[in-house]
Amino acid sequence: PTFEPTVPRERVQALMQAEQERYARTHARSGERFAQGQQAWLYGAPSHWMRRWIGGWPLYVQDAQLPYGARFVDVDGNGYADFCLGDTGGMCGHGHPAVVEALTRQARVGSSLMLPTDDAAWVGEELSRRFGLPYWNLTTSASDANRACIRLARMVTGRPRVLVFSGCYHGSVEEAHVELRDGAIAMRNDIHPNGFPHDRLSAVVEFNDVPALERALRAGDVACVLAEPAMTNYGMIAPAPGFHDALRRLTRETGTLLVIDETHTISSGPGGYTREHGLEPDMFVIGKAIAGGIPAAAFGLSAETAERVWQVLPKLHPTKRQSAHAGFGGTLAGNALTVAVMRAVLSQVLTPEAFDRMLVLARRLAEGVNARIAAAGLPWHATQVGARVETLFCADAPRNASDVRRTRDGELEALLHLYMMNRGVLITPFHNMMLCCPGTTEREVDEHNAAFAEFVRECKG
Ligand code: PMP
Repeated sequence: PTFEPTVPRERVQALMQAEQERYARTHARSGERFAQGQQAWLYGAPSHWMRRWIGGWPLYVQDAQLPYGARFVDVDGNGYADFCLGDTGGMCGHGHPAVVEALTRQARVGSSLMLPTDDAAWVGEELSRRFGLPYWNLTTSASDANRACIRLARMVTGRPRVLVFSGCYHGSVEEAHVELRDGAIAMRNDIHPNGFPHDRLSAVVEFNDVPALERALRAGDVACVLAEPAMTNYGMIAPAPGFHDALRRLTRETGTLLVIDETHTISSGPGGYTREHGLEPDMFVIGKAIAGGIPAAAFGLSAETAERVWQVLPKLHPTKRQSAHAGFGGTLAGNALTVAVMRAVLSQVLTPEAFDRMLVLARRLAEGVNARIAAAGLPWHATQVGARVETLFCADAPRNASDVRRTRDGELEALLHLYMMNRGVLITPFHNMMLCCPGTTEREVDEHNAAFAEFVRECKG
């Protein structure tokens, strides 16, 4: 079936032009900074991820709100309610006093010594208590943690392939840069294949497709399944009832390790989706928000998986200098600064009480969006995974990436993003996601919902 737009294209394009003109007028200083940035930065700004802004250039941030909150001001003096929150990296909110205190205290003592500090024991035990897996290792990014899990899975199973679900995103992980297109493996978002043999080292099936998953796993060459428990990076796609049971049963039956990537779905609650729904992964990945915005991530192993890892990478006495390298890294992984801030985050910021408040606000956001959609009679909906909400321009919740591809309205998504930005509300680019943090208040939610009501009115014409 061909794509049927829910808003006439001429209207979307006219609105987009008006919004881009407005953005250029009200964000001139940011535009100058980005023009200057072309001199030194490969893609105009310190990270290429910072360049994809539909207004024409990224905002340059002046200040996050002080005291603590979910607001900031740009160099042109525009203020924002921040629901992007650094695409989850800022999920603790901007300038939390506990994070600031831990950062400054540890920075004075020493940030990176390649030695553990007294915070290590508490943080390790808290990771186990929260997420339920007994053994942990820190990395500097979720991408790094995913790559480490893949490496360990290959080491213990001796198998080559990594299975992912079409529409996934797990960071800069070659094996996960694939999607299913017309039933065949293809490069996700036309990403450059980089000489990597995806056809030999990756496998990809649709989310919620148990028969396809079973066929792929029965081949016996898959080291691990790498999955978000609910997909968040290509529209939000919930697991169908029974899907996680089938995934766990089939991975166990075929000797395949199950890696659950909770980098985004930590929004579900203090122990992530895994704890909320009683999942039993062999390996667990958490990144982005875990150290209050300091680059950091962690992966955890079940007791059985750790035993298998120790078989191939033994826990030798430290005096045995020939012990093998693990093959995953980072010199700065688990450094003193990271661990100090992680302790502050886990004990004082992303607490169960904070999640309770965040979930109430996210519900207010989603209900507000859905009420305005219903009143306008538009075939859209908002979906919620804990503190995370996404507006989808289709009537029915997608079951997999093909559903998303069939109904996705990229032009309208881009328009919503810019429209909100011009009205002081920042939502995540690329997938129009909104996240509530412990510092979000009803004020930000109501600002979003009021701006969304205007957007709906203009789309109706
Ligand atoms: N896993 C998931 C589920 C993600 O959404 C992302 C980033 N969006 C990553 C991993 C990678 O995180 P990073 O870029 O911080 O390594």
